[in-house]
Amino acid sequence: MEAKNMSRRKKKFTCGHIGYGKVCHKCVQKQSLRDNKRQEKNAWKESFANDMIDLSSLPKNVVIKARQIIRDMQNNTCYTYFRGKRLRHDHFIISIPVTRHYRLICRDNGSFVVPEAVVSHEDYNVCKPGI
Ligand SMILES: [Zn+2]
Repeated sequence: MEAKNMSRRKKKFTCGHIGYGKVCHKCVQKQSLRDNKRQEKNAWKESFANDMIDLSSLPKNVVIKARQIIRDMQNNTCYTYFRGKRLRHDHFIISIPVTRHYRLICRDNGSFVVPEAVVSHEDYNVCKPGI
């Protein structure tokens, strides 16, 4: 009987939290939240393996937007729909704005447009000769 009463009493866990039971529920909850976050992070990392081009160094919002544009283009949406433009010095290169600071560079293969890279505005200006 006494043991039963004991287990109902609040106690201080080694972590410093106060609660009932054998384990600290606050810490268990915190740990599972942490595990979820880690799983999300891993899934995010692994998702880059499915991309046609390397997007792993880009901010998350840029990655999501770029993937959307690439997917839509694979479904025959024209680059002009995304306000994409051909470069003046190389008409086979198409530059599509992804966000204010990033552009998706594609190459016109004649029959289809192939994504090549997502570059920041600064990189883009550097590789743009003679303008
Ligand atoms: Zn705790």
